Amino acid sequence: MIVVFAENINGNFKKSTLEAVSYAANLAQSNSTSCVAVVLGNTDDSKNAELGKYGADKVVSIKSDKLNEFRAESYATAIASVASQQNATIIVLSNTSSGKSISGRIAAKLNAGVVSGVVSLPNTSNGFVVRKTVFSGKAFADVNITTPIKILAITPNTFDVKEFGKTASVENVEVTFNEKDFATTIENVSRVTGKISLTEAELVVSGGRGMKGPENWGIIEELASVLGAATACSKPVSDMDWRPHSEHVGQTGITIKPNLYIAIGISGAIQHLAGVSSSKVIVAINKDPEAPFFKAADYGIVGDAFDVLPKILEAAKKLKSATA
Ligand SMILES: Cc1cc2nc3c(=O)[nH]c(=O)nc-3n(C[C@H](O)[C@H](O)[C@H](O)COP(=O)(O)OP(=O)(O)OC[C@H]3O[C@@H](n4cnc5c(N)ncnc54)[C@H](O)[C@@H]3O)c2cc1C
Repeated sequence: MIVVFAENINGNFKKSTLEAVSYAANLAQSNSTSCVAVVLGNTDDSKNAELGKYGADKVVSIKSDKLNEFRAESYATAIASVASQQNATIIVLSNTSSGKSISGRIAAKLNAGVVSGVVSLPNTSNGFVVRKTVFSGKAFADVNITTPIKILAITPNTFDVKEFGKTASVENVEVTFNEKDFATTIENVSRVTGKISLTEAELVVSGGRGMKGPENWGIIEELASVLGAATACSKPVSDMDWRPHSEHVGQTGITIKPNLYIAIGISGAIQHLAGVSSSKVIVAINKDPEAPFFKAADYGIVGDAFDVLPKILEAAKKLKSATA
């Protein structure tokens, strides 16, 4: 049995969740077993059943007000309990920030081997080998998991969301928690709303110190809006409060893997590249022809961002209206 954690926000499933469900379903198919998705919190069962479309055979839902908010302790207990109830040998989750904080906890509860940052399906020709990224995405490691229970935390934006067209049954189950599972008090949760999530975005427009100041971000936001992209920035930009920390990408920020990353006025320091170098296509715009970003970029524009950006924006608008 393969159990997949289907993370939701207010009952809605993110793209990274659908990727994890499709990955688990694919794995279940090749192992001739079933794929069970675990949903936590007070969610709508008709919506939960839609996970069948992405390959879940069954959805196990644990409904409780206390699970409406993410706590690593209670979520790990819930997922480990369902995995035990279902005799799961493989547990799949997305390597999102919540996935990262629970995979090790589940592993400890189940004596399981865990691999995070997975970028391949397992190769079982000689053991159970999965490929993962290491050294901030600069290299890959092939890891053999030898424990009976295996946990795979897959990298978002790596596997396609596939439609399997199944109908999933939904089962409501109860799990016994203890006090420690709710030892953390959550006072408030503030979510960025109305914007494309950076980790899920397929297109990202990012600015660095070359943008000179927060007052110049209007054109980056406009370009992002025309392209349907998320906005990101380098570390100094968020350190100086030009942009929120939630947009900081790199070794100490978020790691992203969009189809297109446009870097404007960013030098391309190794710590920045660590978070973006797995992007499928990178475009760097920099006035310094020697900027290190050009070595990592697929396309480079040597020029002043304040001359280049209005032209790109105009072209993007034309393209959008031509395809509308
Ligand atoms: C332990 C550690 C962790 C770090 N983690 C991160 C991290 O996670 N993410 C991160 O981003 N950084 C990180 N850094 C910082 C990193 O080393 C760089 O200092 C940082 O990425 C530089 O940001 P920047 O490119 O925006 O600024 P700068 O290095 O100042 O580069 C600005 C660039 O803009 C160009 N430019 C200037 N004016 C224009 C213009 N008008 N038009 C076009 N181009 C122009 C310049 O030629 C230059 O290349 C880390 C550093 C350390 C030591």
